[in-house]
Amino acid sequence: MKKCLTIATVTIMYIVMTGSCRSSIKEAPGSSDFNYQVDRFEDIRVLKYQLPDFNSLSLKEKEFIYYLSEAALCGRDIQWDQNFKYNLLVRKTIEGILSTYKGDKNSEEYKTFITYAKVVFFANGIHHHYSNDKFIPGFSSEYFASLVNGSDDSSLPLAEGEKKSGLIEKLTPILFDNKLYAKKVNGSDSEDIITSSAVNFYEGVTKKEVTDYYASLGDPSDPTPVSWGLNTKVVKQGGKVTEIPYHSGGMYGPAIDKIVYWLDKARQVAMSEAQAKALGLLIEYYKTGNLKTWDEYNVLWAGDTEDPVDYINGFIETYNDPLGMKANWESIVEYRDIEATKRTAIITANAQWFEDNSPVNPAYRKEKVTGIAASVINVAMLGGDSYPASPLGVNLPNADWIREKAGSKSVSLANITNAIDIASQGSGMLEEFAYDQQEIDRAKKYASLASALHTDFHECIGHASGKLAKGTDPNALQNYGSALEEARADLFALYYLLDKKIVSLGLVPSEEVGKAEYDNFIRNGLLTQIVRIKPGKNIEQAHMRDRAAIAHWVYEKGKDENVIELVKRDNKTFIKINDYQKLRKLFGTLLSEIQRIKSEGDYEAGKALIENYGVKIDPALHNEMLERYSRLNLAPYTGFVNPVLTPVTDGNGTITDIKVDYCSDYLGQMMEYGKKYAFLPVIN
Ligand code: ZN
Repeated sequence: MKKCLTIATVTIMYIVMTGSCRSSIKEAPGSSDFNYQVDRFEDIRVLKYQLPDFNSLSLKEKEFIYYLSEAALCGRDIQWDQNFKYNLLVRKTIEGILSTYKGDKNSEEYKTFITYAKVVFFANGIHHHYSNDKFIPGFSSEYFASLVNGSDDSSLPLAEGEKKSGLIEKLTPILFDNKLYAKKVNGSDSEDIITSSAVNFYEGVTKKEVTDYYASLGDPSDPTPVSWGLNTKVVKQGGKVTEIPYHSGGMYGPAIDKIVYWLDKARQVAMSEAQAKALGLLIEYYKTGNLKTWDEYNVLWAGDTEDPVDYINGFIETYNDPLGMKANWESIVEYRDIEATKRTAIITANAQWFEDNSPVNPAYRKEKVTGIAASVINVAMLGGDSYPASPLGVNLPNADWIREKAGSKSVSLANITNAIDIASQGSGMLEEFAYDQQEIDRAKKYASLASALHTDFHECIGHASGKLAKGTDPNALQNYGSALEEARADLFALYYLLDKKIVSLGLVPSEEVGKAEYDNFIRNGLLTQIVRIKPGKNIEQAHMRDRAAIAHWVYEKGKDENVIELVKRDNKTFIKINDYQKLRKLFGTLLSEIQRIKSEGDYEAGKALIENYGVKIDPALHNEMLERYSRLNLAPYTGFVNPVLTPVTDGNGTITDIKVDYCSDYLGQMMEYGKKYAFLPVIN
């Protein structure tokens, strides 16, 4: 629950990036003629990212990165199957058609099929990666049947003795019935959030059965509880609710074995003994599925902050579970950006000061903020849940007691942010939505630094701050937990971005940086972020709910004093901040209240806050935003193709170097991965 998605900040990025790119990020050699954008379809653009200074890494570091990268790619099928039970069946059918279809490939209908294939690949399944809605194909079910019939049997995922007609019959309702499996994750409390969500974490069980089952496990007074249900699917067997765990020999075993194979190779060239030991525990966890081992691993992993190459690998984020317990598989391989890490080191060194001076009730502050390691890194490979839509910053591990005891690691993904920055310059977003020239100038000058600092504070300190009251269930906020947690981290950042302290620490030249971030945050939260939502829909995604809730709450609470003004000009709506200091105070008040809600596990108050301020959209404003945005012709979501890493060997098969190639063919990479990293049966 500690991850900030690229897509969530893209609107910010468009605004930010009209100026120069982030000063702390070094330009990679030759990046001026590096063509970042490789594809553009529907609401998505796909970029490639560079690996700065990769060639100056040592051979051992490169080799380590290579093995971890293979492990990162081997879990792809898991992520697909977790998202929805029939995703692999759909994907393999699409792959079969793409590779062997004999009919007309220049027709308009075939083009709509290609677009469908691209959005499904991007989402790792048939539900939109962000809105969670099922994609409705732009072609007919009859055309789909003709595509299958025009492709080779051997390329299609036909079951033993099955004919193409059988496959078509199976897939037609899955793809075309818009009531069936309509939502991957249903966050609306008006229905049973388990039975109405298509995500493959539960089957044949109701929300009540699941919550009763987990309530019966564990000891509520255990100060070091395992992350119950993190790596299992819940089903009913013989009328009894039970879990099927993911591990070697169990569910997803064939893919897990491949991950283990590469992790073991990585372990042998690890950067340090501590890192090798942690990898050993991770391997053991994958073999057994034992959550105690997972915790032991995380304690070691969180404590290992010195190594120049690091990784994330496992069942980690729980956004796709309506109950926030079960995690999607993901991996990121990363190496340190040494220059930019100096900035986060200043923030980390002052973590205790920020904690002690926060507006939060002292009872809910941490007496001792331990081991918040923050670094700026470059990504070498994205996998599973982080591919192709990548986060911009990550703070792990997620278990509260481990974070309190062993600390947490926080990273900002420099080369990913840099790719977005450069690809987004001159989008026109700022000119369209900013209130006046002063705001535009301030954004051009400072928004890039402001946004980087917001991410640093959010990740390094925001998520790591605060503590629970004794006896509070960490899952008490249930389906509102993710949005409230993100809001807490955002508010921590916002509060300090206008503090004199960060000027005195030399992090910013003046308070103009904080003002630029306030402009940007409120503009995004009240206005522009809704361009990513279809007319008539509510806000569902946790980060978006967080931003909407904060912006609407401070707008309403500051109304009497006209802190934020909604201005109409030429039938266009703008926001104008009249008093930045008062706005900062409101951020502080809300931070204190959300920390109280989390610390006390006040579900009703958390629910009211999110439902009243973070979910609904004014339809007239929504139409206006969509209309203005559509004229800019921008893609609201961004994702990435990975570089291709290839070992160079001598005559004896010893690795002498790792070669980097940049892929510019999005569909090609998807097809390549489909061949190379397909380890699971279509139904698991
Ligand atoms: Zn976050």
